[in-house]
Amino acid sequence: MKQAITGYHRDEEDDWVAELQCGHFQHVRHRPPFINRPWVTTAAGRQAMLGHLLLCKKCDRGEPKDAPV
Ligand SMILES: [Zn+2]
Repeated sequence: MKQAITGYHRDEEDDWVAELQCGHFQHVRHRPPFINRPWVTTAAGRQAMLGHLLLCKKCDRGEPKDAPV
């Protein structure tokens, strides 16, 4: 199921985590050359991706929410 990004925070390893509309969290790592998300490294880039739809596998699996919506 696709869900919009509503915000971000960093985890204990300093990786960026997107907060989705459905209440699930999803890592949005930038680890070139395997995972390329240069937008996540800048505040402007993250801002521009608010509302972008990400595929939420946790929704597909029916997992409980990571945070209250
Ligand atoms: Zn979800």
